[in-house]
Amino acid sequence: MNGRRPLQRGEKMPVKHWSFAGLVLTYWCNARCASCYLRCAPERGEPMSADSAIELWRQLIEASPHGCRIHLGGGEPFGDWPTLLEICRRAKTAGLAPLEKIETNAFWACDEPTVRDRLRALDDAGMGKLCISADPYHQQFVPIDRCRLAARVASELLGADRVQVRWRDWLAAGFDTAEMDDAVRGRLFGRYAESGRDRLNGRAAECLAPRLQRKNPAHFADTSCAEAILRSRHVHVDAAGRVMPGTCAGILLGRLSDRTSVRQIWESLAADHAVRPIVGTLARAGPVGLMQLAKPAGFVPSPQGYAGKCHLCWEIRRRLVEVGEFPDELGPVWMYEK
Ligand code: SF4
Ligand code: SF4
Repeated sequence: MNGRRPLQRGEKMPVKHWSFAGLVLTYWCNARCASCYLRCAPERGEPMSADSAIELWRQLIEASPHGCRIHLGGGEPFGDWPTLLEICRRAKTAGLAPLEKIETNAFWACDEPTVRDRLRALDDAGMGKLCISADPYHQQFVPIDRCRLAARVASELLGADRVQVRWRDWLAAGFDTAEMDDAVRGRLFGRYAESGRDRLNGRAAECLAPRLQRKNPAHFADTSCAEAILRSRHVHVDAAGRVMPGTCAGILLGRLSDRTSVRQIWESLAADHAVRPIVGTLARAGPVGLMQLAKPAGFVPSPQGYAGKCHLCWEIRRRLVEVGEFPDELGPVWMYEK
């Protein structure tokens, strides 16, 4: 028994089982994209071992009555190619649910033989889709020709329906942004960010949000975040065992350990989410509710306003982390540092 009352007829389950999970294999990345909501960078790390990845994979599947589709990402999972391949092979050998996809910025796609060899190996090891990131932010660090090569070879080997590109319109008509003048690139980023494709957390809150039109926090009142943090069915898990909502970086739903399994984390969230200061407040009242909680910690809303509710949410949480509040629900600390 977990202490929860039974649901009434027609009542929605407040916390959905996790049926899509991303393993954050590392926070290392060759890039440092302005849009990166996890703030990955070359100086970051926290690599996940193959043993941990397999154990988490198994636990995630077992914790949900519907099973769980796993994707692998980071950071840049191809930064440690031997471990990436080992994880995929071992999962397949162990009979775990098939790997849905691997996400990459294609920095490693320098020549066609390498791309063919790696994609064949991953295909044999059970990879479903390859998901390639391509946009002006990524092309500051990765030549677009590598994305195009990876996409073309993947389409030939795997079939077009097993290749995702974020975003195809940019892949078709985009260009490298590394050599651009800073001011010109900044304006391009600002225009691109207006499309609303980027979650304004992490580095995106710092680098993109100031380039966008901003609104008073009151504009975001009465916007519950229950769908994003409790009902999306999508989580990310990193090497330190942090369980985070799939799209809300830096919010902790729980922390795995030798004594705490994925199932226990989910059950605990289902039992007490409403009384958790961060998750409960966001689910009930969104970031404007969180603003009240952060006032005693010295949060003062910016007179310039915020580019969206996630930007507001991030800035409030950043203040709370700065003063050391709610470490059980906010982290890792480095993600919030400027
Ligand atoms: S490539 Fe992806 S993980 Fe790496 S910095 Fe860019 S957005 Fe972050
Ligand atoms: S406002 Fe915060 S909790 Fe809500 S969706 Fe955005 S990042 Fe997630």
